[in-house]
Amino acid sequence: MMKEKVGFTTTIPVEILLAADKVPVDLNNLFINHPRPHKLIEKAENAGFPANLCGWIKGIYGAAHEYGIRKIIAVTQGDCSNTHALMEILENERFEIMPFAYPYDRDYQLLKLQIEQLMERFGVNPDEAEAVRTSLLPLRGKLKTLDELTYKGGQISGFENHYYLVSASDFFGDVAKFTVEVDRFLAKMRNSKPDCLEPLRVGYLGVPPIMSDFYSFLESLGVEVVYNELARQFAMLTDHGDLVRQYQNYTYPYKIFHRLRDINEAVEKRKLRGLIHYTQSFCFRQLEDIIIRQQVKVPILTIEGNTPDPLDGRTRLRLESFAEMLRTSSCFGSLRPGR
Ligand code: SF4
Repeated sequence: MMKEKVGFTTTIPVEILLAADKVPVDLNNLFINHPRPHKLIEKAENAGFPANLCGWIKGIYGAAHEYGIRKIIAVTQGDCSNTHALMEILENERFEIMPFAYPYDRDYQLLKLQIEQLMERFGVNPDEAEAVRTSLLPLRGKLKTLDELTYKGGQISGFENHYYLVSASDFFGDVAKFTVEVDRFLAKMRNSKPDCLEPLRVGYLGVPPIMSDFYSFLESLGVEVVYNELARQFAMLTDHGDLVRQYQNYTYPYKIFHRLRDINEAVEKRKLRGLIHYTQSFCFRQLEDIIIRQQVKVPILTIEGNTPDPLDGRTRLRLESFAEMLRTSSCFGSLRPGR
């Protein structure tokens, strides 16, 4: 019998779904990896979603319909305010919706309660979820090696790093298959030589880019992303001892200040010359750019994307200028959209 698929709108304690013998499906991955992601956006717009709404939200809606994912865990706190209305629309269309809320202040007991409620919903007990968490540690360790080969050895490109880390939110829905692919990839890359001996090292901040050629364009400029901030968070590379602590130490759903600590550590440790902050059009997180640029100590360029298309000419030009500025200058500055 086919296992049941359970979708989710952003990273959730996937260990619970695996313990319940379900197939975890990150709807964001489903959307962006679709051969024609525009089609999924159109599906949402045809249903009445406005043009001036985040493309990821429309993509999630379209993906849930396209792939018939009828059971969805909606992260109602810690991700996106648009999720509330999205879930109401889906519930109205007879999808089964289960809420999950990350407490804003990272309170251990409140998070534990949320995790326990999710476990109860799927008939999983804490020992079963913990057993899955432990069983995933070797795989997460391999992803950590993959990340190290990116920033220490330069054998793994920014895109490859992004692809594997971001895919760890649902492990392709099949942990065994994902593990085999990671093993194969690591075996191939471990002894490879970096393509570019002295790339300009930058970090990427923010939600995954919706644009289709972001990484390849940077590579064409001799710029390598050696830190994918949120993809690395999604992959949870550190063993924090138990399931609640693991999700408590995940920086994305809480106050921006936890992210900033992680970003500033990475700037030092990975010797980043600059940062590129990606913001999604119509996303409330664009406001966080104000704090990020005040709190980081290397030059930062903020770019914006809307639809799953190649980079537009203006953004290409801005990325080129930023790379040039980092190469030729040691001054610290910042570039915002429109400047
Ligand atoms: S990019 Fe922003 S608006 Fe879009 S789904 Fe993510 S948090 Fe929500």
